[in-house]
Amino acid sequence: MPVTIQRITDLNGMDYESQLEFARTMGRRRVWRDCFHTLWLNIETKVYRKKPAKAQRFRRALHEKFGLSKEEWEALRSYFANYEAVGVVKQRNDWLEKECSRLRGLLDTTSNSRSDVRATGDADEEALAAHRAMSNALYQNRNECRRRVELLWKACCYIEHTPIARALKQCRGKAAWHMHPWLRQQCVQAGGCCARRCQCCSRRPGSRWDTWVGHCTPACTCCMKHDGVEVPIAPMEDPIQLRYSIPPAADDLFGERMMDFTVWRC
Ligand SMILES: [Zn+2]
Ligand SMILES: [Zn+2]
Ligand SMILES: [Zn+2]
Repeated sequence: MPVTIQRITDLNGMDYESQLEFARTMGRRRVWRDCFHTLWLNIETKVYRKKPAKAQRFRRALHEKFGLSKEEWEALRSYFANYEAVGVVKQRNDWLEKECSRLRGLLDTTSNSRSDVRATGDADEEALAAHRAMSNALYQNRNECRRRVELLWKACCYIEHTPIARALKQCRGKAAWHMHPWLRQQCVQAGGCCARRCQCCSRRPGSRWDTWVGHCTPACTCCMKHDGVEVPIAPMEDPIQLRYSIPPAADDLFGERMMDFTVWRC
């Protein structure tokens, strides 16, 4: 995925032939989309002040009319994939941190009682090795977290001039946007914390489109404890498979609903 974005503003200073070539490459519709970028923004802002839902409908109309380039669709797919990945990695981090501090506590206890009990040598070694392995896993997971956040941020930058990105910002900029009944229902069906009294999902902070907030993933510490799982899930590997297609397929009802509730909702 290219990092720089070529926009219509780059046309300044180009000769006519280059402008034509640029228009052909980008697609005529997207030239209109980007050429009148300021106009669309002004309309959206005015409409938003009175009716935020109407601003979303306007963005959706623009998106359906002008669409995205192949690279922009790829960036959007990368956004959704890495958003999910950040959730998993963050929740995996919670588990590893808790396990690390539990093992550290165990080590402290055994070292304090060493003077009383002589035969703790093997147990000490085991606890030390387990703590070392867990610290190492935590270190790698934190690096993975940073990498995923960076990929997410890159994808945001690549599409930020598009109507769908502005819709995403509005939808996900709201506090607790992820607590919509339909999204909670997905968590309940998957056996997440929304199905139990703990209600961990409603206590997760975050209210920006480029920082993670969401429901339980297979790495949720609380869910793992509830299910009696005692080992962390394996680290994530690329490519990340989404449960819906980007661009959305015509018969993908789940994907359509996901878009409705995570992008186009006010
Ligand atoms: Zn919970
Ligand atoms: Zn959970
Ligand atoms: Zn939930």
